[in-house]
Amino acid sequence: MAKVDVEKLILQPRSKFLLVTCISCGNRQVVFDSSKTVVRCTVCKEVLATPRGGKAKVLGKVNAVLT
Ligand SMILES: [Zn+2]
Repeated sequence: MAKVDVEKLILQPRSKFLLVTCISCGNRQVVFDSSKTVVRCTVCKEVLATPRGGKAKVLGKVNAVLT
């Protein structure tokens, strides 16, 4: 399981972390919603989010928003 970095949440209050389920293998991991890089599943390497205009476009299933 990915661990949420609480300090980053405090430093960047406008950004969120999303709990995303990989559509390919079902792995759940935390994705930063303003990621500037492509986020891949740690298990199967499926792309979970791609950067788009400062916000990440999430390709997996969002289970929860961690604020
Ligand atoms: Zn996966």
